[in-house]
Amino acid sequence: MKWLSLNESGLPGYIVKVLSRRGITSLNPAQVTALESGLLQWKNMLITSPTASGKTLIAEIGMVTHIKERGGKAVYVTPLRALASEKAREFKDWEEIGLKVGLTSGEYDTDDAYLKDYDIIVTTYEKLDSLYRHRAAWLKDVNYFVLDELHYMGDTDRGGVIESVAIRAKRSGSVLALSATVGNAEEIAKWLRAVLVSVAWRPVPLREAVMYKSGKQIVLEYKDGEVRRIYGDDPVITYALDVIYKGGQVLIFRSSRRYAETLAFKLAERTTFVKLEKNELEKVKERILELEDSGTEEKETMASLVMKGVAYHHAGLSRGMREIIEDSFRRRLLKAIVATPTLAAGVNLPARAVIIADISRFNRRVLGYREEISVTEYRQMAGRAGRPGFDKEGEAVVFVRDSDELEYVKSRFWKSEVEPIQSRLGSEASFYSFILSILSSEGKLRKEDLLKIASESLLPHVLVKKYLNEGLEWLEDHGFISVVDNEVSLTKLGSRVSDLYLNPFSANVLKEALENADEDCELAYLHAMAYTPDGPVVAVSKAEEDEMLDELDCDLLIGEPYDEVEMENYLSALKVAFITRDWIEEKEEDYILKKYSIGSGDLRTIIDAMDWLSYSTYHLAKVLEMDDKLDFLMKLHERVAEGVKEELLGLVKIKGIGRKRARLLYNAGIRKPEDMVMNPEKVKSLLGEKLGEQIVRRAGEFLSNLTR
Ligand code: ADP
Repeated sequence: MKWLSLNESGLPGYIVKVLSRRGITSLNPAQVTALESGLLQWKNMLITSPTASGKTLIAEIGMVTHIKERGGKAVYVTPLRALASEKAREFKDWEEIGLKVGLTSGEYDTDDAYLKDYDIIVTTYEKLDSLYRHRAAWLKDVNYFVLDELHYMGDTDRGGVIESVAIRAKRSGSVLALSATVGNAEEIAKWLRAVLVSVAWRPVPLREAVMYKSGKQIVLEYKDGEVRRIYGDDPVITYALDVIYKGGQVLIFRSSRRYAETLAFKLAERTTFVKLEKNELEKVKERILELEDSGTEEKETMASLVMKGVAYHHAGLSRGMREIIEDSFRRRLLKAIVATPTLAAGVNLPARAVIIADISRFNRRVLGYREEISVTEYRQMAGRAGRPGFDKEGEAVVFVRDSDELEYVKSRFWKSEVEPIQSRLGSEASFYSFILSILSSEGKLRKEDLLKIASESLLPHVLVKKYLNEGLEWLEDHGFISVVDNEVSLTKLGSRVSDLYLNPFSANVLKEALENADEDCELAYLHAMAYTPDGPVVAVSKAEEDEMLDELDCDLLIGEPYDEVEMENYLSALKVAFITRDWIEEKEEDYILKKYSIGSGDLRTIIDAMDWLSYSTYHLAKVLEMDDKLDFLMKLHERVAEGVKEELLGLVKIKGIGRKRARLLYNAGIRKPEDMVMNPEKVKSLLGEKLGEQIVRRAGEFLSNLTR
């Protein structure tokens, strides 16, 4: 495996210029292989390689040369919003040679027309799908697609969308797909009509080991045959401290949030003799305590932990909190993070050692059932071991509790092939949504042409035919499409549903709820929204179930299901409805988090989803011409978006005024933007001089825009 100096790489001067400024002097073996395989001829290419092998740079070279030599635009698509922002920041370097870099994610009901002026557009799979549905005019200029982390195509929830974006991409231009190692890389490459480039090279060599307890000893058996023994009570903690004392950092993966938190506390009790940069950690602590998007308890707990060089990390934390923790780990202030596996799927955060502390976890879908983590997931976690520039090698250690687990690690994680990517379009929910997506971007289509496009899927042809036939029938029966003389087109309802980025099954639940509703009960509407397949899901305890059913103060719009699994969804939706109602009744965030045992990150996820679902419900009612419900639904939507009672809706329209400030102003007699303009001194005394002045100015601008 060879490196190649930048000057001898044959890359165009404009590339060399920007990369040199970034401090890159040579191309690594993965990058050299990509060049040799036709990167600059812009052939479709599937690159599979371990994490941190420099795939992003390969994509940058592909995109920039393509734009410069062939014209057009490039899109870089990732599965996560956080990754999209990270990449967009990196790509800013290309503005130096005159390229404009744009980032778009979230907000599904727009076509982002302003992006016509951009050259490189970074986005998520869902957002790109929604842009196609809106027939964004600039999309016709996109002729180079980077599909990042393509192995997510096998993900049960998101895979269908990723596959449909891949189908569009290969119909519209050159495709550069990036992926972790997958079992059926050849099949996927063939499907993409792409050259397969498989690279095994890693910037930091990886050593794998399995760890278990044997009497008073802790034994580490390495894959290469070495056996090491260390002494201590708790294997995971003993090994983690061993790495930390030798100057390394550790990432520990646990299967549940609670396990991760508990272990973080246990580890923090043992770092008394670790050398820490207390002054810097003090600043981290201050940043955490000042966070506005986290609950008080969460902030205080984490602040005390970080002072000991340890943190935990999972999706229940607010985004701000997660960013501080990731940043402090990168700066090597934190020595250990105990995380759930979501961290391994997200941002780039390498450590000298990765400890996988559980090889099985509870199944989300089948209660009480444990399942082993897959080889793909193992590789994803283990791949985080070894920090370039700091570690000569990385260690991935799996802790096992018995001989069965030991055997599992040796025969599966160390030996067997990783799992193949399978199509996830093989479900009614994702296939029917795919049909809507094609029809909304392509317009009216004959059945044969629709079949032709759908057949580009990875799904076996017989299944495509089956789902297409059944799908067309269901969509027609429910009013989303019309079929005239063999030609299929979206109805007004179908088109709106597709633009809203709603799953047709969700739209159907909402439609029925709207038809059933004869009173304006917020809770009942919120429950229906949460009960759709697009609704957020939360865990419900038996005690919570009883309490909720007790507190129900109006008839729900969805009847109780008979099926046990459906009943679970039904109760989850009810809990989401109660949470959202507390939110729009202006209950304190701390109160909500405690009452429902959720984290700030969960609350944000719930509110974001309910914001979009309430917006969609309003628009569905509009297209269904249920005019008498529109006023109520619009207010409900605005209240969900802002978390306020109706009386504050006037105030929160002013940028910078959220639920807390609005309440403060309102209680002091400032009840609408006009009052702000008329009482500037009062506003300033309430909000502080600088902010107050800004707000009064904005209120003035807001009012003059209204009257214009
Ligand atoms: P991947 O996408 O394969 O997971 P990244 O593209 O994120 O990996 O690269 C990992 C790290 O390696 C980044 O910090 C990047 O700046 C660095 N890197 C990539 N290519 C080179 C190179 N040729 N020389 C030095 N550092 C590089």
